[in-house]
Amino acid sequence: KITIFWFRRDLRLEDNTGLYYALQQEENVLPLFIFDSNILDKLEDKKDARVQFIHEQITSIHDELKDKGSSILVKHGKPLEVYQELCKEYSISSVYTNRDYEPYAKERDQEVEKFLKEKDIEFYTFKDQMIFEPGEVLNGSGEFYKVFTPYSKVWLEEFKKQKIEPLSYFHWKNLYETKPFSLPSLEDIGFEKTDIPIPSNTVDKDLISEYDKTRNFPAKDGTSRLGIHLRFGTISIRKLALDAAKLNDTYLNELIWREFYMTILAYNPQVVDKAFKPAYDQIPWRNNEEEFKAWCEGKTGYPIVDAGMRELNQTGYMHNRVRMIVASFLTKHLLIDWRWGEAYFAAKLLDYELASNNGGWQWAAGTGTDAQPYFRVFNPESQTEKFDKDLKYIKEWVPEFGTDKYPNPIVDHKFARQRALDTYKKALDQ
Ligand code: FAD
Repeated sequence: KITIFWFRRDLRLEDNTGLYYALQQEENVLPLFIFDSNILDKLEDKKDARVQFIHEQITSIHDELKDKGSSILVKHGKPLEVYQELCKEYSISSVYTNRDYEPYAKERDQEVEKFLKEKDIEFYTFKDQMIFEPGEVLNGSGEFYKVFTPYSKVWLEEFKKQKIEPLSYFHWKNLYETKPFSLPSLEDIGFEKTDIPIPSNTVDKDLISEYDKTRNFPAKDGTSRLGIHLRFGTISIRKLALDAAKLNDTYLNELIWREFYMTILAYNPQVVDKAFKPAYDQIPWRNNEEEFKAWCEGKTGYPIVDAGMRELNQTGYMHNRVRMIVASFLTKHLLIDWRWGEAYFAAKLLDYELASNNGGWQWAAGTGTDAQPYFRVFNPESQTEKFDKDLKYIKEWVPEFGTDKYPNPIVDHKFARQRALDTYKKALDQ
């Protein structure tokens, strides 16, 4: 009999909770990864740097396990069907895995667990991608926090109280002994290579120490770029949070935002396509397709907006300050549904994370967990004045800025601001 350890968004051998516990018991552990066709079939662009990144990580885990006399079994298909097949090939007593809180993941795991139970196979899950998972940071009445500040206060208190430590000891000898399995190529799973570079997962301690001073300036290399690694677990959140606690409170606070939005999503799965504050679903979005196209292509005539969109299109990354500006511009200046912008980001961002992306978009549109935010309409010009004074970021991404090749503004700022305020007010007064 064997135990399976199922990798999902935790693509590392070190400090991996589920793998650690799987290896602690007596049975041989066979690591498994499934390229999930339920997810991959929905990706329209088959040159997807994120899929390529996952493939590379799986390949490196394969090589590391080879050195330990073992391997990783890699399948491509629907998870339930993969398990139906595996049960015919192997005598399995249990499956270990780390918990995932997204709506699709929860549904998938329930289905797999039900099938395994029918076969008398245990399904054990562990907390790994968060410091405090949904349900661990609650208010006095035992409910989830709807507002960030009190949530972060309790989160921090708990973090200081509990001794969080990375797991460092492994019973590697319990790995399933085998010759290396062959891996499907990227092409075998229907994807092609891209040349978009992926930022490294090394924690730059000097950068994090200065984070509160540098993080708002898009022309500076002032943020960690660890988003993609947190998304796919190629860095451990425990190690990162412990470093952050020593180096910079503002950075730690951002990691708390990540867990706040994950918790909001876990308790409110409807936010995937509905406003967190239901009244805001009344807003009559203009949804002009030509204007949306201009926004996507970085041709709105607002240089800070255009710079951000071009950075995203070319690199799969956009600086947080600029994400806020372009999202405010789309939803307020153009009155285009936040779900359109969210979907565009989801297709392009290397660090795409459903909970944070949804939270960020609902924040910008004013439909989310913030108290009274619809009056906030970012002024692209004053944002530029504050955060890109020398126009360094703008000039990097919009080289024709200042020449007659650069388009005129798609809409007048003062007019658009007033239109947004009137539209929101009317919709919410109903
Ligand atoms: P750093 O500034 O170095 O921060 C470190 C880590 O903290 C990030 O990698 C991230 O995991 C977390 N973090 C930082 N800011 C936030 C935040 N506001 N909310 C939640 N977590 C945060 N973040 C994503 O990870 N995925 C997304 O899809 C995403 N979409 C966004 C959409 C909009 C409209 C907005 C306004 C923000 C979005 N964010 C998203 C949050 C934030 O912009 C990114 O996490 C950050 O820019 C990633 O760059 P970094 O890794 O250099 O972050």
